Amino acid sequence: MAILAYHSISPRFIWGITWTTPRQFSSQIRRALDLGFTFHSLDERLKTNDSHAKRLYITFDDGFENIYQYAFPVLNKYKLPATLFVVAGYSGQYNTWDVNWGNQRLCHLDWAQLQELAAAGWTIGSHGMSHSSLPQLSDGKLRRELYSSKALIEHHIQRPCQWLSLPFGNGAQRVLDVAHEAGYRGIVGMSRISSHASLACHARTGVYVLDNSFTFEQKCIAKYKKIYHLIQGMLDICSNGTVWVKQGIGSQPRKRSSLG
Ligand SMILES: [Zn+2]
Repeated sequence: MAILAYHSISPRFIWGITWTTPRQFSSQIRRALDLGFTFHSLDERLKTNDSHAKRLYITFDDGFENIYQYAFPVLNKYKLPATLFVVAGYSGQYNTWDVNWGNQRLCHLDWAQLQELAAAGWTIGSHGMSHSSLPQLSDGKLRRELYSSKALIEHHIQRPCQWLSLPFGNGAQRVLDVAHEAGYRGIVGMSRISSHASLACHARTGVYVLDNSFTFEQKCIAKYKKIYHLIQGMLDICSNGTVWVKQGIGSQPRKRSSLG
């Protein structure tokens, strides 16, 4: 089995590499189907220990509107489920939590769009309230990120929020303990993740704009997983640049109407 992590799907250039074009995405999905992969949501993962090599879990971090625009129609065409991790405090608003490279702002999915994904069989998980790197937070702030985001998602989606994706892939035993106490049942990171006796903890393999059909296939069949996770580890260090720039400075969500 493989758990793939996407971020943005966009026809327009986005600074960095954590995005994929709509054309790349749809050809990757078709390729995976041709290779005989079956698609599953992470909530399904909690019901089975089946780690068959052809089980594929597509996940999206951050919950940008471009997922609704460009990924949902492709997956929905084949009735395939996926998992989306929403930055709960920013639903329907712009990503002022991120460094604004190239003066680009992306909008997050609103609750109506998220309800539509859930109705189509997607798992909606938490990516915290404000996309803060969790290990650096005080106990109070850490609890707010994990408890409030879960409660907000459950209020709007009307379904248990069982999964947490660690912002920047950053976790620590203390974070996993609080996540367990808050009622999460599974955690995903990026290249590495600690284990926890009471939680399903999974590393994921990122898919990026630099991927071609060969590297995508390798990632699906989890071949050379260690090499990809090593590369992923270096990217995770780069993504932590955002933590140094933003965390501590603080940022407030800006409504859709106030930007763009
Ligand atoms: Zn993220």
